[in-house]
Amino acid sequence: MNTTGAVGAGTTPSGNPLSRGVEYRCGDCGAKNLIKGGDPVRCRQCGFRILYKTRTKRLIQFEAR
Ligand SMILES: [Zn+2]
Repeated sequence: MNTTGAVGAGTTPSGNPLSRGVEYRCGDCGAKNLIKGGDPVRCRQCGFRILYKTRTKRLIQFEAR
C-alpha cells in the first residue's frame, strides 16, 4: 500500500474545489485567478467579470448586478 500523505504540497489535478479554490482565466486580460468558495468571481487584475474555467474550458459568465 502506498500511504503518501502529502497534504498541501502536491499537484493533484483533482483537488477539492471548495477548499482549494478553482482556477479561472480572465476573459479580458487572460490573467489567472484562483477563486475560492465565497470569493467574488472577478479578475483581480482588471476587474473583468467574465472568467473562463481553465479545467473544464467552459464559459462561466457572471452578469453585473
Ligand atoms: Zn482580467
